[in-house]
Amino acid sequence: MKITSAKFVISNSEAAKCPPERIPEYAFIGRSNVGKSSLINMLTGNKSLAKTSAKPGKTQLINHFKINENWFLVDLPGYGYAKVSKKVKATFQKFITDYFETREQLVCAFVLIDIRLEPQKIDLEFFTYLGESQIPFIMIFTKADKIGVTKVDQAVKNYQKAMLAENWAELPPYFVTSSETGRGREEILAYIDELNQD
Ligand code: GDP
Repeated sequence: MKITSAKFVISNSEAAKCPPERIPEYAFIGRSNVGKSSLINMLTGNKSLAKTSAKPGKTQLINHFKINENWFLVDLPGYGYAKVSKKVKATFQKFITDYFETREQLVCAFVLIDIRLEPQKIDLEFFTYLGESQIPFIMIFTKADKIGVTKVDQAVKNYQKAMLAENWAELPPYFVTSSETGRGREEILAYIDELNQD
């Protein structure tokens, strides 16, 4: 898919106020500092569409971007950053779970995972939440340029092993990405393009 336009539409702290338009929607989410803003900018070819921030955990809004005038890319707040107070964090904030549980336009979630880290409890918990809520999701491994080729394969396997240990019957599709090199861009856009045709 060629990106011909990428526009910011609106920021919300309530799922009910998200744009009513019935076009396919894809949500990007992950731990703070996982590289979400960088990935969104890399995918859309716009260096400043999503704000990369030196202060993890700062953005607490649901951001809608309209891509090619026919689908929404949604930037959800990062979860699980230790410096966010317990009250703000509440594991997965209510407005995020409200979003997933009410947003009928949502086609699937892209859950970002820092490829350098061992499987994280909070990410596995989030997969479980999505699974139990019957929301399809894709795993996106970020920052692949930071480690060697063999370690990339190992990192993917480690996550899959952790999921199998939790009795997942089916493993989600995954993509390996780098916002530095553009790795994964074509594959993810082609994947979305295909889902948009359904
Ligand atoms: P967010 O909090 O998830 O939106 O993360 P950001 O996109 O702001 O990225 C957090 C930090 O990781 C920044 O310093 C980025 O420059 C860096 N980063 C993000 N993606 C990559 C990547 O693919 N490769 C490398 N080397 N650094 C990255």
